[in-house]
Amino acid sequence: MVRKMGVYAVLAFCLYGLFIYWYLFHFADTSLPFEFQGSKADPSTFLNGRELDLSEEYSKIRNLLFFLSTPFEWLFYFLILLFGFSKAFKRWADQSAKYKVLRMPIYLIWLSFFAFVATFPLNYISYSLSRTYHISTQTFASWMKDELIDFWLNYGTWLIIVPVLYWLMKRSQKRWWLYGWLLSVPFTLFMMFLQPVVIDPLYNDFYPLKNKELETKILALAEKAAIPAQHVFEVNMADKTNALNAYVSGIGSNARIVLWDTTLNRLNDDQILFIMAHEICHYVEKHIYFGIAGYLLLSLIGLYLTYKIMNWTVRKWGKELKIDDVRDIRSLPLFFMILSLLLFSASPLTNFASRYEETRADKYAIEMTKNPEAAISSFQELTRSGLSEVNPPLLVKIFRYTHPSMLDRISMLEQYEIKHRNQ
Ligand SMILES: [Zn+2]
Repeated sequence: MVRKMGVYAVLAFCLYGLFIYWYLFHFADTSLPFEFQGSKADPSTFLNGRELDLSEEYSKIRNLLFFLSTPFEWLFYFLILLFGFSKAFKRWADQSAKYKVLRMPIYLIWLSFFAFVATFPLNYISYSLSRTYHISTQTFASWMKDELIDFWLNYGTWLIIVPVLYWLMKRSQKRWWLYGWLLSVPFTLFMMFLQPVVIDPLYNDFYPLKNKELETKILALAEKAAIPAQHVFEVNMADKTNALNAYVSGIGSNARIVLWDTTLNRLNDDQILFIMAHEICHYVEKHIYFGIAGYLLLSLIGLYLTYKIMNWTVRKWGKELKIDDVRDIRSLPLFFMILSLLLFSASPLTNFASRYEETRADKYAIEMTKNPEAAISSFQELTRSGLSEVNPPLLVKIFRYTHPSMLDRISMLEQYEIKHRNQ
């Protein structure tokens, strides 16, 4: 039975992979609708033939990797349970731990290590693909260092969460999801507060803007929106990527706008000011806080569903998955698997909300800078530097796009340009 279930799971994953491959490479039509051909959103007007080919190829492979990696995680956790690895990790932890408190950290390190090894090939392919297409400029050593920081950060975070979670399960079999959620509220806020000052600097260097002339212009724009100068940062990304980006992170006194140095180096001042105005909108409209509120609401529902699904699974398949009791640490891979499933299922909704905020930010930015030419050319440069596809397939948009497609973003700006030219 166990072997049969394993074979079916692997087969299901392969069939899913084939379907996605067929969808992305043969079915989905990413050519531009007739009415947009020749417009400023038409990539053939601002990319050369080679860039066009590369962006199409690169996007397809990236999308395939995206759609494979999350279900691969589910398969991994399922097989870890099915073939008794989780049970073995617990036995190894019990045998090697001198003190009882060390059992959970040892169990967790085994599970984390196996997960790291299993997901490493896909991560590595993704990195080397990015290097092949000259998006990533990161050396293998630097990339590996980031991977290891990821590993230990995740391990550290779960080391705080998991013991509390299983303690709650033992104390209250029916309400642990609610108490767990209540504790997650201050924890999430605290982590969001620490993110820009403790976590992000582990990966990259942050500093005030280097180009002082540009800094004056950017800070003048920030001042117009009442954002203090000490909340604007530059981050050193040029030795990692050719892509351009900017973002808002942190809450309370740690809230900040961060501009990648690649963006500052490669765009002209007017284009940078448009990108900055876009970030200013996220900052002043407090999109991060809406994001956290939405996340907390979803996680309440998610934890309740996890509780229900875990109980149901253990009742029905406990023997095959080698979990006698939900409250036993052996059920952790099941917890991770359900969490990942729910996150993936919720992504169309969270992406939709994010795209709404991004559209607002684009509109705010063009109203603030009133320079559609600079705005359009900055998006064209963004497309070129990341070899991104202007008109992604529907499923890619739904599951992957936190921003509107470049077709939508550039068309919106073009509409603005036409409207104001005639006035
Ligand atoms: Zn944005």
